[in-house]
Amino acid sequence: MRIPSVHELKEHLAKLYPHMPFSYFTIPARKVAQILREAKQKGEFEVFTDTNIENLLKKAFEDYTKPSLRRVINGTGVIVHTNLGRAPLAKEVISQLTEIALRYSNLEFDLLTGKRGSRYSHVEELLVELTGSEGALVVNNNAGAVLIALNTLARGREVVVSRGELVEIGGSFRIPEVMSWAGCILKEVGTTNKTHLSDYEKTINENTALLLKVHKSNYAIVGFTEEVSIEELVALGKRKGIPVMEDLGSGSLIDFSKYGLAKEPTVQESLQAGVDVVTFSGDKLLGGPQAGIILGKKEFLEKIKKNPLNRALRIDKLTLAALEATLMLYRDESLAVQAIPVLRMMLTPPSKVKKRAQKLLKLLRNISSKLKVTLIKTTAKTGGGSLPLLDIPSYGVAIKIEGIPSQKLIEKLRQGDPAIIGIIMEDFLVLDVRCLFDEDLLEIKKAFLNLKNELNLST
Ligand SMILES: *Cc1c(COP(=O)(O)O)cnc(C)c1O
Repeated sequence: MRIPSVHELKEHLAKLYPHMPFSYFTIPARKVAQILREAKQKGEFEVFTDTNIENLLKKAFEDYTKPSLRRVINGTGVIVHTNLGRAPLAKEVISQLTEIALRYSNLEFDLLTGKRGSRYSHVEELLVELTGSEGALVVNNNAGAVLIALNTLARGREVVVSRGELVEIGGSFRIPEVMSWAGCILKEVGTTNKTHLSDYEKTINENTALLLKVHKSNYAIVGFTEEVSIEELVALGKRKGIPVMEDLGSGSLIDFSKYGLAKEPTVQESLQAGVDVVTFSGDKLLGGPQAGIILGKKEFLEKIKKNPLNRALRIDKLTLAALEATLMLYRDESLAVQAIPVLRMMLTPPSKVKKRAQKLLKLLRNISSKLKVTLIKTTAKTGGGSLPLLDIPSYGVAIKIEGIPSQKLIEKLRQGDPAIIGIIMEDFLVLDVRCLFDEDLLEIKKAFLNLKNELNLST
């Protein structure tokens, strides 16, 4: 058998998709031709049938015409999952997002005076109202917030940080490196497990510009430990006339310990303690869009606003629209914990999560005698560099298909539409239900019905 030419493959696609423009077929046809050439080199081409080739063409065409960025179903039990888009937005946020995206807006136009306005004004008052801050500034993400704050407050000078807080947050955000990119000199104090107030005090000299506290977002130091509280650091800063900054990372506006979860420092507490600048993410525990929020004393915020980096790090109108709408939900905490998916997922009681698992179990139970499903207890995590030690009791459905390795099953689900992301536990595929939306359950059932057909499972 001869490998069909790219042109022949295009003609084949044209027959399959008669209403699509011919130009759409070039790339998928080339991809398939490449696969066939590689198979030929390996001596594997002869096994291809016309149906195989047609399936390859369909798959290549569908991949080409579907957006690369697409919805997935999160069955991992990790709520703020960095690889899966961190925080899903609240439904209430979406109508505002489309309204602003589709039409013109007063992004930088003051409707009262008819003069040029500031894009930050749309969220500044709201952030002040919710946190008691003197002002607010929002940039592209928290990494950017830390960078611009350090650069503004301490460029060319020393910043004191505890050795226990030299955090790395995945990717390439590491405190020592951000510090050098911001043009600051890092002065490490204390040890990994213990840092005393006197360690900071001894290091302070005429070139010290800032005392920095970094939230240990994704790790914990346990055992023989000691760290300086933000209150003590602020008191020291006041005595020495040196500003204090806190990078809170996850930055929650609500106190989770009220709901029986572990204590995560809140933004309000940090401000009440008197920090001069505090930074945190918009899309971690806040549950909004990607953004870096900077709060604190007006004097410093004004300086940060004037830093030319601000233009490079500025947020766009879609982020602003989503952030404002998310923050508005926080005016009523009971509304926020219901409407904001991250908060809702964290605070759903285990009994309710168990019900969801039972529902999913029921949907999958009778698909095939080869498909075995069991309800199991699992442990969910907040993820996204927050509450690293917090295990949230959860439930999941453990799944096995006779004769199919769980590794293969996880791949099949991942490559479906919508993709379903599960975890493997002791040779079972597990879907933790804590991060599932109601509408995900039927999608999962559909995926297993498709699998049943594909794998020719008996009923
Ligand atoms: C997550 C985190 C950052 C980075 O925030 P992004 O929003 O991902 O840019 C910085 N510092 C700390 C302590 C964090 O937890």
